[in-house]
Amino acid sequence: MEHFDTLIIGGGPAGLMAAIRASSFGQRVAILEKNHSLGNKLLLSGKGRCNFTNAESDMDRFISQYGDNGKFLYSSFSKFGPLRTREYFSHIGVKFIEERGKRIFPKEGGAQRVLDALLMQCRKYGVKIMRSTPVKSMKVRGGHVEFVITENDEYSADKYIIATGGKSYPKTGSTGDGYEFARQAGHTITELYPALVPVRTRETWPKLASGCDLRNVRLTVLADGKNVAERFGEMEFTNFGVSGPIVMDISRFIPDWQKRNDGESTELQFSLDMKPTLTHEILTARIKRDIQKHSGHGRFAGLVRSLVPAKMVALFLELSDVPHDKPTDYMSEEEISDTVTLLKDIRMNINGLWGFGNAVTTRGGVSLKEIDPSTMRSKLCDNLYFAGEVLDLNGPSGGFNLQVCWSTGYVAGSINDQKGE
Ligand SMILES: Cc1cc2nc3c(=O)[nH]c(=O)nc-3n(C[C@H](O)[C@H](O)[C@H](O)COP(=O)(O)OP(=O)(O)OC[C@H]3O[C@@H](n4cnc5c(N)ncnc54)[C@H](O)[C@@H]3O)c2cc1C
Repeated sequence: MEHFDTLIIGGGPAGLMAAIRASSFGQRVAILEKNHSLGNKLLLSGKGRCNFTNAESDMDRFISQYGDNGKFLYSSFSKFGPLRTREYFSHIGVKFIEERGKRIFPKEGGAQRVLDALLMQCRKYGVKIMRSTPVKSMKVRGGHVEFVITENDEYSADKYIIATGGKSYPKTGSTGDGYEFARQAGHTITELYPALVPVRTRETWPKLASGCDLRNVRLTVLADGKNVAERFGEMEFTNFGVSGPIVMDISRFIPDWQKRNDGESTELQFSLDMKPTLTHEILTARIKRDIQKHSGHGRFAGLVRSLVPAKMVALFLELSDVPHDKPTDYMSEEEISDTVTLLKDIRMNINGLWGFGNAVTTRGGVSLKEIDPSTMRSKLCDNLYFAGEVLDLNGPSGGFNLQVCWSTGYVAGSINDQKGE
């Protein structure tokens, strides 16, 4: 059985970072990767542009993006936080630029450049990469991993790092195997949900505006009629509901809002305000001006065309009770008021999340209570470590999820009390 100092299961961003770190101490390191190529999900990140971290400089604000579990990251961020990440990538040849929302992207070459730079470091330090080598199980005895079993072989190591990712986008290779290995070592897996994912609505009419991008809109979530969250920005309609940045962000919290102590689930609704900067009165006055301007020939459908994006006209007309061809001169006060209400409050009933197949990340994972945040070492198994999405950590879009991989991967690959490179 081939033996290594450190054996890493999974060659995504977390596994690669851990491998580089461990090998930089002169250790004999191997990555076992089930796919033929490494970093498949990394290559999809940021639509291939790879938003690899965020320039938010206030550490508390950065960490608050991960919710209550974020405090687990203080230790790893103090060793390899967002600033170090930018410096590191710049050092290995990935120059970066900052964009809207402090998102950091490679200046050139996108995700491929990031992956190539990481693979180059692996080569430099002699990391052995075993492709098309899925790990099937782990042999654990008495709080100690003895070896891992692949299809054809067994491998042993002094130290094992599980960096198999979560369950999101399983076609990239992240099919949740790491949770099984963690369970074999006695770990608890918290409830798993798709996160940063489109949302389904009970209504089927969103498909009438499928692909319609809405900018500068406000989306409010109502739980049993009470406002629980609000986001301002971009969203889109899909064939099954809604998607886009503000929807994906909200999706992370939907399971919490749905849960009720009595076991029933709370009714959740979206309220979409297409004109959040205009009051009811201002919008009414604007519509009345428009009606006057087109007096004698204006029709309701034409009025709607001046109020919503072209791709949304059919949907708006479907939702409104006013006949499409009604002359606007004959619109009653009530019809004008209803039109304004529709512009400011389109209701949709939330019918759940799309599955893991379309989720950017996983909510839930290996329980943080059982891991030492300063080393990423299991508290149950003395030579077992974790890094990346397999952990019960997730953030919003904006570079926060890859940052978890860099920081936890770096710490998991470190050797206590040694400085390394
Ligand atoms: C479409 C999309 C866009 C994204 N964009 C961004 C973005 O711009 N910014 C951002 O911060 N985050 C983004 N993310 C999230 C980010 O890509 C993930 O957080 C990150 O890839 C997780 O890294 P990881 O190393 O933990 O796991 P993964 O990247 O999932 O890598 C795990 C690896 O382990 C391998 N593996 C699994 N099981 C086994 C096994 N049994 N044996 C051997 N190998 C195994 C898998 O094949 C895979 O290669 C995006 C995700 C998606 C899906």
